[in-house]
Amino acid sequence: MDSQTDFASLKLAQPLLRAIADSGYSQPTPIQRQAIPHVLQGRDLLAAAQTGTGKTAGFTLPILHMLAAAGRASKPGRPRCLILTPTRELAAQVEDSVRTYGKYLPLRSMVMFGGVNINPQFTALRSPVDILVATPGRLLDHVGQRSVDLSGVEILVLDEADRMLDMGFIRDIRKVLALLPAKRQNLLFSATFSDEIRRLAGDLLHDPANVEVARRNAPAEIVEQSVHLVDRSKKRALLSHLIGSQRWTQVLVFTRTKHGANRLAEQLGRDGIEAMAIHGNKSQGARTRALGAFRDGSLPVLVATDIAARGLDIDQLPHVVNYELPNVPEDYVHRIGRTGRAGSPGSAITLVEPEERKLLTAVERLLGRAIPQVEIAGHTGWSGKPETEPEHPGEFRARTGQRPARSGGAPRNAGSGRPAGTGSGRNRGRGPAPARQDGRGDGHRGREFQPNRGARG
Ligand code: AMP
Repeated sequence: MDSQTDFASLKLAQPLLRAIADSGYSQPTPIQRQAIPHVLQGRDLLAAAQTGTGKTAGFTLPILHMLAAAGRASKPGRPRCLILTPTRELAAQVEDSVRTYGKYLPLRSMVMFGGVNINPQFTALRSPVDILVATPGRLLDHVGQRSVDLSGVEILVLDEADRMLDMGFIRDIRKVLALLPAKRQNLLFSATFSDEIRRLAGDLLHDPANVEVARRNAPAEIVEQSVHLVDRSKKRALLSHLIGSQRWTQVLVFTRTKHGANRLAEQLGRDGIEAMAIHGNKSQGARTRALGAFRDGSLPVLVATDIAARGLDIDQLPHVVNYELPNVPEDYVHRIGRTGRAGSPGSAITLVEPEERKLLTAVERLLGRAIPQVEIAGHTGWSGKPETEPEHPGEFRARTGQRPARSGGAPRNAGSGRPAGTGSGRNRGRGPAPARQDGRGDGHRGREFQPNRGARG
């Protein structure tokens, strides 16, 4: 069988190959092909890879292989492998993968994260555990209670290390590192490489192998993006109209705040559209239920904040709506990267109120091109301040149809992908001052990655 041949050539054990075949994977993804041999050799690894590349199997498969091959019996509360993740959802998903791929191996895994009762975790830690997947805060709670013993960790994984730093976990991570045995294998996965990540990698990794994969897609290039200029007071009606008239059955809507997410979910409910909000104030149970219903198609609309959406394994969506633009333009790229299914690009629609004009300009600078604007009769348009008034001359050319001179090529018009039937919309070619001169403009921060060899601190 193909799947066996390809994964088998990576020299993974039979029980893993069986589990892979059960999962229906026919070929390793590029990150898996590159990372697995290094990990199996026992090397430290610095991997530039985003969610959606198959990175989770890229580390769980070789780890399971090595732990099974070593054949040592695990002890209660004393894991041999520690996987740290930024969010509860990611922790749960990673541990799911460990279970899925390890189902024919006699290895035990456990997941722990905050926001849930700690007592069942105490109970679980009284049993042997080989692989512990944890968020840093709750792990340190257990360390404080002496319910977990990290002195037996042979392999450490930092998954989505950039997100962990974004979320302020650096001190917790360093505390955890101090508790680990000096001799161990370290794997660091990150989508982006800031100076802080490089410093952490330099301190942590010994002569690491470097692997880098292009992101699964360059969302800014293939996602059908459009903007509706709309007054704040009309956003909700427009969203309900879009969902109803397009018969969207699975749409992820982003708001800036938790409160905004709650309110919007309620308002959509009053419009007869079933929606749930997912954010940090929700209990783990509520989050899991909402996510489950959204995944299986019984809940058409999930309203999320950026933080809550991080680590959710819900990319490949048909539709993403930015109900509000993020304060950080890079978050726009993360958000829209969740759309697009095999063979069909997703749509990313952004509702922009007058006060968000500068945020839109910032996003367009990052993309290196304008996002087509689409009108919907009776729904879009700004009242009040005229839209054409440029804040900085040359920066904002809405409605003039004029393109500024660009050195990076004419703006590609993703508007050919304007969602069918969004009214009598016309795409307006306009552009911000181009920020990039390379014509790439895919907002791909991952490519800033440079191998960091042996820069140990
Ligand atoms: P990840 O980047 O680890 O979040 O994985 C993204 C998705 O790819 C998950 O839904 C995996 O189940 C799936 N996946 C992982 N490895 C493969 C593979 N070799 N072939 C097809 N799908 C895969």
